Amino acid sequence: MIIDAHVHLGGAPARQGSPQEILQQLDEIGAGAAVTMPGPGLRPDNAGLRPLLEAGGGRFHGCAWVNPALGHEAAAELESCGQWGWKFVKLQPEMHNFSMLDQATEEVAEVAGALGMTVIVHTGGSVKAQPWAVGEIASRHRGTRFILDHMGGPEAEDVRVAILMAERHPNIWLGTSKSIDRHKYRQAVDVIGAERLVFGSDAPNVSMASEIVRVQHAGFSEAELELILGRNALHLLQA
Ligand SMILES: [Zn+2]
Repeated sequence: MIIDAHVHLGGAPARQGSPQEILQQLDEIGAGAAVTMPGPGLRPDNAGLRPLLEAGGGRFHGCAWVNPALGHEAAAELESCGQWGWKFVKLQPEMHNFSMLDQATEEVAEVAGALGMTVIVHTGGSVKAQPWAVGEIASRHRGTRFILDHMGGPEAEDVRVAILMAERHPNIWLGTSKSIDRHKYRQAVDVIGAERLVFGSDAPNVSMASEIVRVQHAGFSEAELELILGRNALHLLQA
């Protein structure tokens, strides 16, 4: 079973993120389902994602994308998405220019925990999106699950801190997407176990096929791959 835990559905046609295009990519890698969030924007269009989810024939699982730079509105929007049965929410501190330490971000973490939703946090590329900040919010909200996505980003030192944060905090999972050093996947699993590494591609800007190959060639056993490529995401969807 394969689940892609990081996909953007919709957005401008040039992104090639229509339901049909995403389903085609899922078929290419043999994936059954995807965790899907709206395309990028200052106010990501969560309501507009709903009809696109229906076009997935049950293969798309909704992921809210909220912006804590908008203040209390972020947590309020998340409440609505939770009522639609969505199990994930994404935060992008770099693009939206907020801090993981902001009050509004804490409110989102609180609501997510209460609704049993997992918070996917973009890391890498700016001082606002650093792994230690995910560790800090995870320590303040132990009842909320976080995916530290991109494993800290392109800098080796950030990846090291990302793995350390996951080691320190059992409510942090690591997301594989756009993390280019395949040896880091193996290193992470040696430290935190295969149960807390989650495959995601960040399609459609990134190809699912090229993302999954890197994970498949990282030296994992069949049992480990089964967890990383699908079972772990399923566990979070059912939590
Ligand atoms: Zn993304």
